Amino acid sequence: MYLDHNGKLWLGTEGGLSCYDILANRIVNIKGFENYTICGILADRFSQLWISTHMGLIRMNPQTGQTYKFGIADGFLSEDFNTGAYTRRANGNLVFGSPVGAVEFSPETAITKVTQPKLYFDQFSLFNQIVYPGIKGTPLQNTIDETEQVVLKHDQNTFSVSFVNINFSNPDKWMFSWKLEGFDREWSLPSSLSVASYSNLEPGSYNLQVRVFNENDSSVSEMRSIGIIVQPPFWSSIYAYVFYALLSLWVVYMLYRYFTNRMAERSSRERTRFFIDTAHNIRTPITLIKAPLNELEQEQDLTPQGRHFLDLALRNVEKLNSLINQLIDLQRAESNALKLTITQCELDRWLRRKTENFKPLADQKNIVLSFEETGRRVEAWFDTAKMDTIFDNLMSNAIKYSPNGSTIQVISHADETSWGFTVADNGIGIPVKAQKHLFKRYYRADNAVNTSETGSGLGLLITRSLVSLMQGKISLKSEEGKGSAFTLRFKNGNGHFLPEDMVDEKVNDSDGIDSDNEEIATDVLPVLLLVEDNVEMCEYLSASLSSQYHILVAHNGVEAMELLGEHSPQIVLSDIMMPLMRGDELCKRMKSDMSYCHIPVILITALDEKSNIIAGYEAGAEDYILKPFDIGILKVKIESILKNRFHLQEAFAASTGEEEMVKYANNMDNEFMQKSEQIIERYLSDAMFSINVFCSELGMSRTSVYNKLKALTGLSPNDFIKIIRLKKAAALLREQRYYVSEVAYLTGFPDVKYFSVAFKKQFGVTPKKYSSVYVKDEN
Ligand code: ADP
Repeated sequence: MYLDHNGKLWLGTEGGLSCYDILANRIVNIKGFENYTICGILADRFSQLWISTHMGLIRMNPQTGQTYKFGIADGFLSEDFNTGAYTRRANGNLVFGSPVGAVEFSPETAITKVTQPKLYFDQFSLFNQIVYPGIKGTPLQNTIDETEQVVLKHDQNTFSVSFVNINFSNPDKWMFSWKLEGFDREWSLPSSLSVASYSNLEPGSYNLQVRVFNENDSSVSEMRSIGIIVQPPFWSSIYAYVFYALLSLWVVYMLYRYFTNRMAERSSRERTRFFIDTAHNIRTPITLIKAPLNELEQEQDLTPQGRHFLDLALRNVEKLNSLINQLIDLQRAESNALKLTITQCELDRWLRRKTENFKPLADQKNIVLSFEETGRRVEAWFDTAKMDTIFDNLMSNAIKYSPNGSTIQVISHADETSWGFTVADNGIGIPVKAQKHLFKRYYRADNAVNTSETGSGLGLLITRSLVSLMQGKISLKSEEGKGSAFTLRFKNGNGHFLPEDMVDEKVNDSDGIDSDNEEIATDVLPVLLLVEDNVEMCEYLSASLSSQYHILVAHNGVEAMELLGEHSPQIVLSDIMMPLMRGDELCKRMKSDMSYCHIPVILITALDEKSNIIAGYEAGAEDYILKPFDIGILKVKIESILKNRFHLQEAFAASTGEEEMVKYANNMDNEFMQKSEQIIERYLSDAMFSINVFCSELGMSRTSVYNKLKALTGLSPNDFIKIIRLKKAAALLREQRYYVSEVAYLTGFPDVKYFSVAFKKQFGVTPKKYSSVYVKDEN
């Protein structure tokens, strides 16, 4: 019990400490003492209460309630004191008795003895591994205690810092609390734990603050801090952001350029479209102007001035005509409406012929044309008509933009993967600035505009479209004033083309006779071979017929024979009077050649060459037409011949074999059909009978057999063999001697089900029904 000078009576009991305020007549139990047995209460001269208990000596400030507990760690002999054993001596020292003896101390000394703690940063760890200065990859230059700031890489963002309190004899009493500024919102709860750990910190600047408390005294005794910087990874560093900014600017710039180019291309396309629409409308009138001019040209009694004017008119009509044709070609090429008709060609031979065709034009400017061949046989697959357009564009440009007396080289090349050719001139060249526009929109380089040559800038656009239609590449090397070289490259072989784009391959590839994939695309225009030595007439006819037919052009009979070998035209339209080989001679040769005799021929002859007509008919021509002719009548004639062919094909397919055999105009064709049927009959029950055997029995190449059968019957060899077999089957069924399964076997159909389906497809009824009809009929 202790009465202080404020009139408060302090009561110590076995259950804690209470205070009785005499003036207020109120008792308060002091919190925190509930577990203590109070042994004695004394006050020092600073009015601090000293309370001895069974568990140490406690100093308490009665005003604030703040306490501090002394024990063995502070130099006391014991923490257990005896009840009532205490006194304050005259010198102010306090004495407390304990079971092991009394302790005396001066309150001042005891107060100062609670020395200031000292915080020391002990260790720094990354991912639970202690790091030291001097080792590889360490972020520390000095010990962690001597470091003000630790700079960590972005992938060193899991770390811990441990600390200790030195300079103090009773460390147990000290508690730590910390806060990582920039990350923690609150200080950590005070504890004796002396490690601050953080993981996966975002890049940034932090400050780790650590403070130390006395267990008895909640005031902070010491605080230290250390800067922690986690650097961003390079992709989010300031340099990276600068780079991103530059990159974005670049992208924006490129997009801007892309869109402005697109807009330029679009407006160019719109203008082209307008021209194309106009071209379609003026094509017919131009043809109608050209035809009479051509006729006038044949007149003998024109005055020199009249002839001069006529030439002028013809030249300009020609230019207009070719421009219109180019526009229409471009439209078809760009809308991909152009169908490919891929055939195999011998590269050097084709290029040589094409180069020679340009000789007259080159001669006009004294330009020397040279052709450098590969020197070996390169079989290239391409669409000859389209490649003609490509070559003609490049070659006529080369001639157009080269000075008199210069040289133009055509070089053919081929390697393991590709083939192609180069057209090189030493003309005006193309400025670098213009080069990139040439293939994208219609464009004429300044140096070309400044020449006297007119142009539309469409030729290269068409060329580019056609080249890419055939999956090729076009490149240009040119230097202004020195010359240009356009190089084309195409893939070897024909694997990259669709089967329906191929003409010959269908024959070459089919071996089994049951395959149905030999159909030729029905929407491909019929091929018409035009044989005409007069260039104007040739162009006139090509222009008039090109919307209905795919036109191949030869300038005499010899060229025509070559083309017949490479292509399989549905019809030949030939002039009679021609150098090298006349039209009637060509017709005669065709009609006596099993491979070509089925192709109808129309001969063109002038009115005063009536004898030619007789010669033509003798040669086996289907029809003739007299010059000057009406193009409308010519068209009707061609159509009717092709229609007749078609009717014959239909008649063949529809016949059951009961009626008379279909008769063809040419005897050789009839012989061919008879022979074919006989061969099939001989192999009738042989299901393994192949097209190869069929062709070798006929003594003809696969291509010839294919072309011929297609022309006469509209069928591929496979279908032809199948239909002949079915017709024989029908005949057997009519005889009533065999069962359906026997008939199937006898006609080379090992699968009866397949036989029934094929039979029904051909004759509209099943074999069973077909034979039952005959039973009824006979009855
Ligand atoms: P055109 O010749 O009708 O103007 P093209 O599309 O064929 O149209 O060619 C486009 C442009 O390319 C030409 O106007 C010309 O500037 C340039 N050019 C093409 N070929 C050559 C060449 N062999 N030499 C120089 N310039 C050429």
